[in-house]
Amino acid sequence: MLYIGVKEMQRLVRKIGLAQVIKDIAVAIEEDFRRWEEFETIPRLASHTAEGVVELMPTSDSVHYGFKYVNGHPKNYEFGLQTVTAFGVYADMKTGYPLLLSEMTIATALRTAAMSALAAKYLARPDSQTMALIGNGCQAEFQAEAFRAVLGVTQLRLYDVDVKSSRKLMKNLKGKGFDITLCESAAEAVEGADILTTVTADKKQATILSDNMVGSGVHINAIGGDCPGKTELAPDILSRGRVFVEYEEQSRIEGEIQQMPDGFPVTELWRVFSGQEAGRQSDDEITVFDSVGFAIEDFATLRYLHLKAHETGLYRKLDLLAVPDDPRDLYGLTMQRAGFWSKLASVFGK
Ligand code: NAD
Repeated sequence: MLYIGVKEMQRLVRKIGLAQVIKDIAVAIEEDFRRWEEFETIPRLASHTAEGVVELMPTSDSVHYGFKYVNGHPKNYEFGLQTVTAFGVYADMKTGYPLLLSEMTIATALRTAAMSALAAKYLARPDSQTMALIGNGCQAEFQAEAFRAVLGVTQLRLYDVDVKSSRKLMKNLKGKGFDITLCESAAEAVEGADILTTVTADKKQATILSDNMVGSGVHINAIGGDCPGKTELAPDILSRGRVFVEYEEQSRIEGEIQQMPDGFPVTELWRVFSGQEAGRQSDDEITVFDSVGFAIEDFATLRYLHLKAHETGLYRKLDLLAVPDDPRDLYGLTMQRAGFWSKLASVFGK
């Protein structure tokens, strides 16, 4: 079984290039969303506490199986920990054997950014140049890189309640061709922006964007509201715009639309990517991607990583599965002496 740890992921991103990896993952997600009906789809399994959530995100296309373990703990920063960490498994359905175990903390940032940019390709005005980026934590640079790679957006207007986050982002993106304005409020950040990305972390019904901050023609990329009781947009914005989701059943529990009555109209993005439904229909319409993250995005990412690990050799072999010489003799394998001691025993003939 292959293993991609953090070191292999860093090397893979450096070898292929961050923008190219994001574009590749966007292509993989688009391909898998276009064959949506081949997949098993269920809302992710979430275990909540007051501090955060731990989630399992499984799916399968009957040839391969994938799942991701991911957490969301907005207060972790106070203890020197990240809000989101993750790992994932990609397996062969024919034998049930896992093929790949991968770190997915970095991969989640890559795939979330890829998914945002992919949705915006269909939903944002094609002449979009400026993005407000509200919430400048771990996901933010990846979002900026994705919107530049896929849509050519280079002007960023930043806001975060913690100015240290914005300074970190400015430092990380310095000299990379972005034109960056640091703003003192979310209202200032959205001024003149074509795309509004909200990627804040707080386990409450927050109002990062209020109705009066959203003009006609903008595309909203709402990332941070992704579990029950955690939202970023005033409900009036959702009523004014057309709302797009990954998987309706899960988004009604976790997305911005948890604030809306049953039957509130939404469009699943796979229908847009496969040409069954329209994306943006006019220059003055407001479009909203109510992002929560869905298992098929992680499946597509694992599928891509498995391929790239083989192509580049950037993986380690992991001794996770017991593989006895005789498949019926697990006991024999268990009692075998391993490593140094078995070599020593063979030297002394024991
Ligand atoms: P993070 O903790 O690294 O960063 C969050 C940032 O938001 C911090 O800098 C914080 O100061 C800022 N913030 C909090 N409240 C704010 C407010 N009211 N106004 C402006 N800024 C505010 O977290 P992260 O890893 O960047 O993740 C951000 C959010 O995105 C989390 O809620 C996470 O659950 C979510 N997320 C969603 C997806 C998805 O697929 N939709 C994927 C990954 C993460």
